[in-house]
Amino acid sequence: MNWSEQISQGLRERQQAAAYRQRRAIVGGNDRLLEYQGRRYLNFSSNDYLGLAHDAGIIAAWGQSAKTCGVGSGGSSHVTGYSEAHQALEQRLAHWLGYERALLFTSGYAANQGVIAALPHEDDHILADKLSHASLLEAGMMSKASLRRFRHNDPDSLRQLARSRCDGNRLAITEGIFSMDGDSAPLPALHQAIAEAGGWLMVDDAHGFGVTGEQGRGSAWQQGCHPELLVVTFGKAAGVGGAAVLCDEQTAEYLIQYARHLIYSTAMPPAQVCAIQAALNAIIKGDALRDRLQRNIERFRAGADFLGYRLAPSSSAIQPLLVGDNGEALALTDRLRTLGCWLTAIRPPTVPPGGARLRITLTAAHQDADIDRLLEALADAR
Ligand SMILES: *Cc1c(COP(=O)(O)O)cnc(C)c1O
Repeated sequence: MNWSEQISQGLRERQQAAAYRQRRAIVGGNDRLLEYQGRRYLNFSSNDYLGLAHDAGIIAAWGQSAKTCGVGSGGSSHVTGYSEAHQALEQRLAHWLGYERALLFTSGYAANQGVIAALPHEDDHILADKLSHASLLEAGMMSKASLRRFRHNDPDSLRQLARSRCDGNRLAITEGIFSMDGDSAPLPALHQAIAEAGGWLMVDDAHGFGVTGEQGRGSAWQQGCHPELLVVTFGKAAGVGGAAVLCDEQTAEYLIQYARHLIYSTAMPPAQVCAIQAALNAIIKGDALRDRLQRNIERFRAGADFLGYRLAPSSSAIQPLLVGDNGEALALTDRLRTLGCWLTAIRPPTVPPGGARLRITLTAAHQDADIDRLLEALADAR
């Protein structure tokens, strides 16, 4: 097979499995209403959980900073891309979340890859929750350390894996709130299971940060757990983009030496840093937004349950409607679109085989009437 035959075979495989991915050019994909090909839809697919992507204060912070600092950062953080604004945000995050240090990365994907590529070495064991995000599992697979997966949210399964002989160190990896299931990891129990074996816990809290815990500090704070490594991202509840790794002083210095995603990549633009500062202000005083989101979640769950839909046991903004079959999930998505509701079908390999689902995300920007319209559409679509 030459390259083009190999590529066309790859495409055929996706088509045959009803797993072909298509991008759609959307206007307002981060808003309550989006527009696609001239038609408006209620948006139930955005991760902008607090509705901050359109927050006037954050937009102003971004614009003001761009006026004085320009748009791009001009280089890697090891050259000239690291500014006082970057430093101030790192210090604020570390202080607010109870860590010695925070390091900014351009994305959650880069943060996960950077940490996992730098930290575990050949004799080490990476023990990851089976349902961990692609950025975590993939980094684990590429690592020279051996990757093993424990049963989803099961501290005993982690404990068992952590008992096997290891000549190096063990790093357990999980998410705070799982991106495709919406359920929470039992962080203190996982932390204890790995600590018993002398290992560290890394928590990716992309979906918990801003949404849960006191003032939105996230899943680990909410559960009273202090993982050695915490990844928070700013593209979801913070409404902006980028990420930070929280850790102790020495680990931060180590990552600055060895995390290639920090060294060989242009730093986040300073205006984006300022926007994240403004987003943090909004998150910290965002109890009303979090309450609003919670009410939306409860309203949706009660209604969908009444309609007899199979919901995952999630109390987060991520409300997966379990369908199973790829074709059925796509058909349901199409039907809901004709009824004015924009949802995304998530299919393998993003979720396990037979696990196709509609990933419904609720945000604080949704109004009661929006939730009711989704429920009506779901009733119609049956
Ligand atoms: C979205 C997501 C990421 C990636 O973060 P980006 O900032 O979008 O690159 C990492 N981990 C989890 C669990 C996510 O949901």
